[in-house]
Amino acid sequence: MAVNLPIYLDHNATTPMDKRVLDAMLPYFCDVFGNSASRNHQFGWDAEAAVDTAREQAAALIGAKPKEIIWTSGSTESNNLAIKGAARMYAKEGECKGHIITSSIEHKATLDPCKRLQMEGFDVTFIDPPADGVHTVDQIADAIREDTILVTVMWANNEIGTINPIPEIGKLCKEKGIVFHTDATQWVGKMPTNVEEAGIDLLSWSGHKIYGPKGVGALYVRRRKPRIRLEPIIDGGGHERGMRSGTLNVSGIVGFGQACELCSQDMQTDHDRLKALRDRLEARITEQLDGCEINGNKQNRLPHTSNISFAWVEGESLLMAMKEIAVSSGSACTSASLEPSYVLKNLGVGDELAHSSIRFGLGRITTEEEIDYTVDKIVKGVEHLRKMSPLYEMHKEGIDLSKVEWAHH
Ligand SMILES: *Cc1c(COP(=O)(O)O)cnc(C)c1O
Repeated sequence: MAVNLPIYLDHNATTPMDKRVLDAMLPYFCDVFGNSASRNHQFGWDAEAAVDTAREQAAALIGAKPKEIIWTSGSTESNNLAIKGAARMYAKEGECKGHIITSSIEHKATLDPCKRLQMEGFDVTFIDPPADGVHTVDQIADAIREDTILVTVMWANNEIGTINPIPEIGKLCKEKGIVFHTDATQWVGKMPTNVEEAGIDLLSWSGHKIYGPKGVGALYVRRRKPRIRLEPIIDGGGHERGMRSGTLNVSGIVGFGQACELCSQDMQTDHDRLKALRDRLEARITEQLDGCEINGNKQNRLPHTSNISFAWVEGESLLMAMKEIAVSSGSACTSASLEPSYVLKNLGVGDELAHSSIRFGLGRITTEEEIDYTVDKIVKGVEHLRKMSPLYEMHKEGIDLSKVEWAHH
């Protein structure tokens, strides 16, 4: 069967919206257009009913109550509201306003709010992960201080797919009376989630990572045992229990709810299918090529994510060799320089290997033909590049490259 090009293997960056989500949304642009905050007429009631249904669908996906869902514009906003909102609400008097614990391989949407809070007088510990990318609960326990007010650790990592022991961390935080937030953007909708069982106080997720629309997200805010309060970031009409003012994006929220429901329905089938395809990709690549390193814990990992370093090739050239395949690379283009991914760096992956890393993010639209095409492209591309690589020549001659003393200019 022929494959259509280009091939999309970047589902950790965003997912295509499911057509069933679009169908659910369409009536809520022109026909049911009311403002869900309009309390005194049918137009408002209809919009509100649609939002309520979506709230139920979203809550059901994570084992929460509908009233515990706060609508946002996406996970970046959810993280900001959770982290800044909780820190500022539970701030202490005195020189240090409180201590926050997070991981050094969080998404920027967590790291940057934490850095902002540092400037405001909070103390933040950024824990480096072990080499396999999975934090241990002991790492968190060891970092906890008398004045720790917030722990924020992602459920699954967006670059390498590794899964943190969130229920154990939740239990620890409950025992210590510390507010616990998790950025579950890559986890929710793909893996079973229960905020009660996992002891989570605040949880972020986003529509466009679960085959829903872009620009819509949700924050779970625990209402009992304990009731979590947040200082709002956006003030206005007091929507969303005063935590997030602004007229609700009704059509987007309807889409978000529908996306959640579809994830509930399809979770197991998607999981098994994508895991089989991901494993096929990794097996076929590593069978045919030496010098491939799979980054992150291989077991404790999302089913649809694979992050592989290809030794002795240059990352940019490899991407060029597989232009018709949309993937993410371990190089992040910042303003002028090409920086290796801070996630891989903090795992201890060297700069060279980080630069030549590729993240494959499989999704609902991924087919076996696409995986086989991709494997073929990569194998041919890597072999071709290595033929021209003096480093690979040296390696094959048995020279240990790590022991080579390079001349410095
Ligand atoms: C995509 C992503 C975000 C940002 O979500 P947006 O909805 O795009 O703001 C945050 N955290 C993780 C782990 C992500 O993968």
